[in-house]
Amino acid sequence: RRRVAYSPDLRVLVLANQKGGVGKTTTAINLGTALAAIGERVLIIDLDPQGNASTGLGIDRKNRAVSTFDVMIGEAPLQAAVQPTAVPRLSIAPSTLDLLGVELEIASEKDRAYRLRNAVKAFADAQTQLPELNRFTYVLIDCPPSLNLLTINALAASDSVVVPLQCEFFALEGLSQLLSTVETVRQTLNADLTIHGIVLTMYDPRNNLATQVAADVRGFMGDKVYETIIPRNVRISEAPSYGKPVLLYDLKCSGSQAYLRLASEVIQRERQLRAA
Ligand code: ADP
Ligand code: MG
Repeated sequence: RRRVAYSPDLRVLVLANQKGGVGKTTTAINLGTALAAIGERVLIIDLDPQGNASTGLGIDRKNRAVSTFDVMIGEAPLQAAVQPTAVPRLSIAPSTLDLLGVELEIASEKDRAYRLRNAVKAFADAQTQLPELNRFTYVLIDCPPSLNLLTINALAASDSVVVPLQCEFFALEGLSQLLSTVETVRQTLNADLTIHGIVLTMYDPRNNLATQVAADVRGFMGDKVYETIIPRNVRISEAPSYGKPVLLYDLKCSGSQAYLRLASEVIQRERQLRAA
């Protein structure tokens, strides 16, 4: 039986891959939206100084008075940074460029790797005081594209890792690197961390290399790879400039439909874990 890091009904997933441009933020936004669309109550924690998840969900830079920076330096509880989005049941704790300086601010603190975990724990504890219908059921953490202290905090704070992977040359090398990072985190900071799944992103079936890499990844990782593949879809890349998840921008497009399928797979895996 899996151990429970926070409350039994709250799952904390991190979108992680040390490579940039593989679809971490896009997946945080759109998996979050799709989970909310099927009834989950979702909080996205934007832990990337770029703040693309915040912008992509329509949170203007001037409306980020309390951000994840304040949470990381211990100036504010996570609850204070949480704000609603245009998507019902989806909230976000936005980030600002201040996060770039967080490493320096906390580098010499004893709890530097556990700042986020402690904040999420306090948040989860406070949630138990709320009526069940108001409690969050999923937290998704969006990471920067590097293995810095922010990413370490995200891995230390999470139950499980969702790995967005682009089917290109060196994808497997990148995946092995990430798996060994997860193993190190397991041995040092978070013994219960698991791999939730690998999601193939920006997939173009006409690209022979992509189909070969997809087959290799499935051969290597078996059913850890979600059945759902996120296609390369121009609607997905257009949506953020309107401050909208693709599901609000164009529900019928292939990208939206794929993220809805991915969300049901994530929920399905959670059910199996709970039953095990
Ligand atoms: P990361 O967070 O890993 O750096 P992003 O999610 O920001 O990656 O994606 C990188 C770029 O690719 C963005 O411009 C995004 O809009 C685009 N993109 C992501 N997924 C898709 C997709 N399935 N189809 C088309 N464009 C995509
Ligand atoms: Mg990103």
